[in-house]
Formats: sequence, C-alpha cells, structure tokens
Amino acid sequence: QHANAMEHAQEHASTLDDQRIEVVANIGSVTEAFDAIAQGGEGVGLLRTEFLYLERTTPPSEAEQAANYCAIAKTLGPKNILVLRTLDVGGDKPLAYLPLPAEENPYLGIRGIRLLAVEPEILRTQIRAALQAASFTRLHLMFPMVATLEELREARKLVEEEKKQLGSHMPVNVGLMIEVPSAALMAEKFAKEADFFSIGTNDLTQYTLAMDRGHPKLAASADAFHPSVLQLIAITTAGAHKHGKWVGICGGMASDPLAVPLLIGLGVDELSVSIPSIATTKALIRKLSKAECEKLARHALGMETASEVRELFNGFLAHKS
Ligand code: PEP
Ligand code: MG
Repeated sequence: QHANAMEHAQEHASTLDDQRIEVVANIGSVTEAFDAIAQGGEGVGLLRTEFLYLERTTPPSEAEQAANYCAIAKTLGPKNILVLRTLDVGGDKPLAYLPLPAEENPYLGIRGIRLLAVEPEILRTQIRAALQAASFTRLHLMFPMVATLEELREARKLVEEEKKQLGSHMPVNVGLMIEVPSAALMAEKFAKEADFFSIGTNDLTQYTLAMDRGHPKLAASADAFHPSVLQLIAITTAGAHKHGKWVGICGGMASDPLAVPLLIGLGVDELSVSIPSIATTKALIRKLSKAECEKLARHALGMETASEVRELFNGFLAHKS
C-alpha cells in the first residue's frame, strides 16, 4: 500500500470533486526540508525554529539564523511554500540565556508571541534573518500563541519596520497560529488583518478542554476530535474564507488519517503533516469527496463526545479501503 501511495506522491492532491488540498510538512531542521520535498511535500506548513535556539548558552546570531533559513528556502525553491514560525519558547520551554522569571502557570505565562512584550530584540533579530529567505521561496511568517488582535498588530508592525530597515521589497505573507480559543472565536476579525491561518490543534485542544497536552493521565480525554474543538475549527475556516484567506492545520491531528476527511469537511485548505505521512495523506485525499466530507463534518459538529466523532469516522474509513 505504501508503494502505491508513493506512485503519485509528487503530484498535487485533489478530492474526487476537484477540491485541491495542499499537503505540506512540519519540519525542524535543514535536512528535514530535503526529506519533505523528496516525499512529495508541497513545501513546509510549519518550520519550528526552536531548533536554532535550544540547547545553547547564547542566542543564535542574525547571520547564523539567516544561513539556516536561506538553506531551507533554497531547498524548497520558488514554487513551494515555507511557513516560518517565529520563536515559540517561554513557559515550559525555558532558554538558558533568556532571563524570564519562573512562573506559577507556564502554559498561561510568557509564551510565543508574548515574548514580544518582554524581549523584542530576540524577535526583531529573527525577523531580519527570516526576511532574507524571501527571495528563494514563498515565504510566510507565522506568529505562535496569538490571543488578541493587539498582539498581531504589534507583530505586523515589527515586520514592517524590519522590512523597511532592510530596504526589502520582497512580498512576505504574515499569518498566525490559531491555537488559543480567543483567536478561533475572533477568526473573522483576525482574517481582515492576516494573510493566512494555521490551526495548532495540540495547543487549541489543551486550551479548550483545559487539559495539559502532555499529561499521561489526561491523554485519552485531551482529544482534538472533541466537538468543542471542531466547532472552533469551523468558526476559524468560516471567518478566514469570508475574507478570502486560507487555513492550514499544523497540529498532530492533521497526520491522523481518521482526521483527514473531518478536516476537509470543516473547510481546511492545507494539511501540514509529519514527513512519513505526506504520501499516505495525499493518497487518502484522492479517495474522498469534499461534499461527502462536509456532510460528515456537519454531523460531527452536532455530536456530544469525541468518541462518537471517532466512531463516525472509523465507520466511514472502514468502507473506503
Ligand atoms: C500546535 O500547538 O498544535 C502546534 C502545531 O504547535 P506546537 O506543537 O509546536 O506547540
Ligand atoms: Mg502550539
């Protein structure tokens, strides 16, 4: 079955009723960019840039970052997309050289984009480095953990300022992760001021159900298939599409075959998956009809538990293969 999936791996994937779904990869290094393309990825839907910052005693310089981002961008090339996520540390992922005070509730503390308020230079340096990759690929900058419109505006302002400083006229799209319930609920407002969204179902599930995503005893209940999370995804795609913006999914849910028809039915335009899931995800998309997925998704949105939703899609996929 794997050989079968690999056969058309380099071609675009569309549903039976001709809805193109972009399949891209989550990566965290330069070598993974090669692998993503080799496996048929149409680019990168989430570059976790933390790999450059962790396990060291000083922050990476602008030149070091630029070298890495440009190497990844050149590997992807001008036709493919690179969604570069700015540094998502703080809270549970402390950095030795960042003097952030210890927090009582790290998951609710200075995380992701909130770094902008306390250590703006770190973000400015990263954005200057990232902008240098714009001439090699379809560069998209993405901010993590955005909860309010003010945060997005601040971040956009910073991008504009650094672009001006660099004298860069290259187009760069600016978007945000939808991984805080407030951002999902306000998606229609965000869509007026962002070029794209990517839903981080790992954190969105954690913050919607108020269950630690890594807690071993809660793992079974902290389920992205919960109808509350699905409703937030539906609000996000509706808000984005109202303003002609696209929505990706970069949480682990996108790599789960059971979720693929559900997410397509909820209106998602792009799936960013783990590298080994690229070919199988494309093969699955080609067997689905978007209209049928929409019908199933509407049904799922009205359900009461995550298990009911899982049962619905287990039954559906059992008839597909
Ligand atoms: C997410 O939260 O779903 C996500 C993709 O980001 P991370 O797993 O890096 O927090
Ligand atoms: Mg996240």
